[in-house]
Amino acid sequence: MLGVTALAVLLVLAVDRFYGHSSIAFAAAIVMLLLANAPMLRFNCPECGKNAFFRGVFVVPWPNRTCTRCGRDLAATPSQNR
Ligand SMILES: [Zn+2]
Repeated sequence: MLGVTALAVLLVLAVDRFYGHSSIAFAAAIVMLLLANAPMLRFNCPECGKNAFFRGVFVVPWPNRTCTRCGRDLAATPSQNR
């Protein structure tokens, strides 16, 4: 996730350098970021639907092992993303 973000930023900087200011590079970077974030945003608790990447009001780059709302063991659950 962080690697993809860095890659997207580097892509924008590289294209910017060689071809001048390009909106195509920005569009490509945004698409890449969306693709990188899509599975993360779908990783929800099968019990209550709470996103496993949210810890209270904070978003963490790794999923919780147990749901912070209902306490379900997310690691033991065959999730839709594993
Ligand atoms: Zn839950």
